[in-house]
Amino acid sequence: MNKLAQWIEELPIEDIRLIEKDLKKGNLQKVITQEIQRKKRENITLCPVCNSAVQEAAGWYVEFGNADLRKKVTFDGVDCMLYFFQKHKIEKKSNDT
Ligand SMILES: [Zn+2]
Repeated sequence: MNKLAQWIEELPIEDIRLIEKDLKKGNLQKVITQEIQRKKRENITLCPVCNSAVQEAAGWYVEFGNADLRKKVTFDGVDCMLYFFQKHKIEKKSNDT
């Protein structure tokens, strides 16, 4: 919600009133449901580092975890992948001590 609230704060009052109107009519729920369905069809996921939309398992991705609980994360670029590993390594180090 923080991201949405931040985005709304930056809009002019006219646009906020239009969003309020759509919210009252139930149009926002329809748009959100349709967009989730479209993204699922296209296998769009979010980069875990920068939250950019990226096609699942395209480009840079890693799978990890045990056989029963495999987890796959897809990055929009090698810089985000390196950041993810670096951060994970630092967190692991601080958990070990
Ligand atoms: Zn990214």
